[in-house]
Amino acid sequence: MIDTLAGAARHGMLVLASCICGNQRHYRAGDLATLVGRGKDPRFLRFRCSHCDRIAAAVTVLEVDVDRIGSLKVWKPLSTPDGTTAWTPERLKRG
Ligand SMILES: [Zn+2]
Repeated sequence: MIDTLAGAARHGMLVLASCICGNQRHYRAGDLATLVGRGKDPRFLRFRCSHCDRIAAAVTVLEVDVDRIGSLKVWKPLSTPDGTTAWTPERLKRG
C-alpha cells in the first residue's frame, strides 16, 4: 500500500486531485514530495481547485502508463522568489 509520497515517487506514480465541479489535476508524486515532504500521505493532501476555489474532494494515487495514453498534463510546482509556489503545466513524458 502506498501511504507516503516517497513511496509513490519511487514507483513513478501520480497524484490526482478531483474536485466536485469536475476539475481534475495530475501531479507527480516526486514533485509533491519535494514540496511538502516525503513522509506525507498523499491521500491527505489538500489541493485548492483552480476553477471553483473549493478544496479537492478526492485525492488518489495512481500509476499511469504514458505509453498507452499518449501524453498527460501534470502540474509542476516551482518556487518563486517571494516564497510562494507557482504551478506550471508540463507534459508528462516517458521515463
Ligand atoms: Zn472545483
